[in-house]
Amino acid sequence: MEWPPLYPDSYSPPADQEYWSPELETMAPEQRDQIILGKLRQQVRYAFDNSGFYQEFYRNAPVDPANLASLEEFARLPILTKEDIRREQEIHPPYGRFLCVPPEDIFRVHGTSGTTGRPTVFGIGKDDWDRIAEAHARILWGAGLRPDDTVMVAAVFSLYVGSWGALVGAERLGATCFPFGSGAPGQTERAVEWSAMVKPSVLYGTPSYALYLAETARQMGLDPIEDFGFRFMFFSGEPGASVPATRRLIEETFGCYVVDQGSMAEMTPWMSNSGCRHLDGGMHLWQDIVYTEMVDPQSKLNLPLGEEGVPVYSHTERTSQPMIRYWSGDIARWDMVDCPCGRTYPTLVTGIYGRVDDMIIVRGQNVFPSHIEDVLRSIDEFGGEFRLLLERETGQMDRLTVQAEVLDRAFASQEFDPGALAPVRERFTAELRRAIGVSVAVELKPAGEFERTQFKARRIIDLRTP
Ligand SMILES: [Zn+2]
Repeated sequence: MEWPPLYPDSYSPPADQEYWSPELETMAPEQRDQIILGKLRQQVRYAFDNSGFYQEFYRNAPVDPANLASLEEFARLPILTKEDIRREQEIHPPYGRFLCVPPEDIFRVHGTSGTTGRPTVFGIGKDDWDRIAEAHARILWGAGLRPDDTVMVAAVFSLYVGSWGALVGAERLGATCFPFGSGAPGQTERAVEWSAMVKPSVLYGTPSYALYLAETARQMGLDPIEDFGFRFMFFSGEPGASVPATRRLIEETFGCYVVDQGSMAEMTPWMSNSGCRHLDGGMHLWQDIVYTEMVDPQSKLNLPLGEEGVPVYSHTERTSQPMIRYWSGDIARWDMVDCPCGRTYPTLVTGIYGRVDDMIIVRGQNVFPSHIEDVLRSIDEFGGEFRLLLERETGQMDRLTVQAEVLDRAFASQEFDPGALAPVRERFTAELRRAIGVSVAVELKPAGEFERTQFKARRIIDLRTP
């Protein structure tokens, strides 16, 4: 097998074909595993030969990293964490000993913002960008993108790698690209004007951004269905596109369909988790692009299909800074689903619904913010935004208060009757209790109380003392 693979950029499937790579996308999973093993064997050997970090990391590995015999052997290599990368990059700045290519071969530098610690740096070579473009074009083709579409990339063009991946994928596919960006003052108003003027058929951003765009459009007197022309939207960076109520809300607001995508910044220039145009929530795992294992959070052993665990990701064709068995820290459930697209990949059935760290334990129940979001968005009076307030008094259990906006008409009623909101609050409390199994406190706020986000929403306010 030729490794690293080179993809001719002249290739394009017929527009009416469902798949970009029909054989790879529909083959029997066991047969695909052989291809994946072949790629991983070379990927691991390459990293071991070219990276001082992996040489050290695999020194006591129970298997021979230079000659892996099976996927079971692969699963015995140590798991790589964000802390490993941070520590390595701190000792050997800026890239750590991950790079594997001469620094002058780096085509673009990316990274994480480092909001929760030292930023992580990614140096990505030109050949890798070509492979990224191919992988992204493939999954976008599956999402329903075609060369006659116009894609508006309405996410920040900065360190955040998602926007760049979407851009190169759409370019490779031959679509018209509109790299709009987001985040500058007044830019959402401009996004409304430009969407109405250019009428892009496809939008990329975050689910929060799409809802904010619709809200802004309505404030400006425009209708998101009548005045825009979005046929579908694809999202990453937040779980919302697989949160059923949020997904439906976006689909109904814009009259379009929604595709969920995304894994981790460390992996995603290679987009490998993505729904297709048929899948109603969730993401297929395009295993021959990036190989995903599902791992038990405690034992760190592989879990079979049907189980919930932490996705662990491995590049299969990255020569600059490859990540092998990277611990995502997310929680998801995987299984085979009978998708009308006919692809034979496993699927993250309800997408990525939270981070292990975001899980809130309320009276013994595991609760994810995305679950609460789903409940709130299915209630008519919900005003669009919410916050989760976490408190703990010394020696006490954690207390969760859901602060939810309610629509103006509901809120205004209490001016005339101070008790008018009580039945609304009772409905919120009852719906939440039914869905998550425990009672939580609910505080109602007027619509517009909480800041709208153009990027990733931060909705947990943690006031717990350690
Ligand atoms: Zn599908």
